[in-house]
Amino acid sequence: MRRTRVSIRFGKLNHCTMDDANPTGAKCLENAVIPDGHQGPLIDRCAPSRCANSVIAPSHLPIWTAEHATLTNLLATPKLPPGRRALLTEQLREVDLILRRADR
Ligand code: SF4
Repeated sequence: MRRTRVSIRFGKLNHCTMDDANPTGAKCLENAVIPDGHQGPLIDRCAPSRCANSVIAPSHLPIWTAEHATLTNLLATPKLPPGRRALLTEQLREVDLILRRADR
């Protein structure tokens, strides 16, 4: 029987399944300056909505659902500066993607 080794980094916003030996597709490493000797993901650059290694578990849903509601409420604010509205809209789009991933 062939053995596979899967490492999972458990997080509050998502879980990361990146294989340190094969980081292909890790969004956090794309266009990043990686410190000498560093191995593994760059957690502070994590992209939960776009990375193939990102797992959104049921335990993550409450925080993302709350974030969706917060962003939706903020976007309902009249007279938001255009730059702020664009930023919030982009953030809401990212959260939508994350919630869709959780449905898979
Ligand atoms: S972007 Fe996030 S999920 Fe993807 S490899 Fe990096 S830390 Fe892991």
